[in-house]
Amino acid sequence: MASDLTDLYQEILLEHNRRPRNFRALDDATHQADGFNPLCGDQISLQLKVGDGQVYDVGFQGHGCAISRASASLLTQAVKGASSGEAMAMFEEFHRMLTEPDAELDYDLLGDLEMLAGVIAYPTRIKCAILAWHTFKAAMDGASVATTE
Ligand code: ZN
Repeated sequence: MASDLTDLYQEILLEHNRRPRNFRALDDATHQADGFNPLCGDQISLQLKVGDGQVYDVGFQGHGCAISRASASLLTQAVKGASSGEAMAMFEEFHRMLTEPDAELDYDLLGDLEMLAGVIAYPTRIKCAILAWHTFKAAMDGASVATTE
């Protein structure tokens, strides 16, 4: 919900919600997973093209609240072109950012993902922000379904 996005990055996040990046199906996906956050009703379908330890392309579709969409959009920008190892490190760091208030974070690794740091103040929205990442991890692990529950 827009009213929850009270931090510095509200405008950018709302713009990602309005015009999500890489919001499309891939023709040549090698990995895919569907994610669901029953708490909020967010649903996302994520497709990846992965090979040689590299995330070549990523696309997502689905529907959900502003935070879930903005997070999925930011995820696609972050992992596209990254190595699989870097992408999984981003997952770990993003998870820490939203679950460990006093964690010392690697902001170089997080990049634009830091814009969602304010979500930690809204416990009911953390699952909205993290859904895309659980779905990404499921896809990378070869699973087809992810849930935040
Ligand atoms: Zn949500």
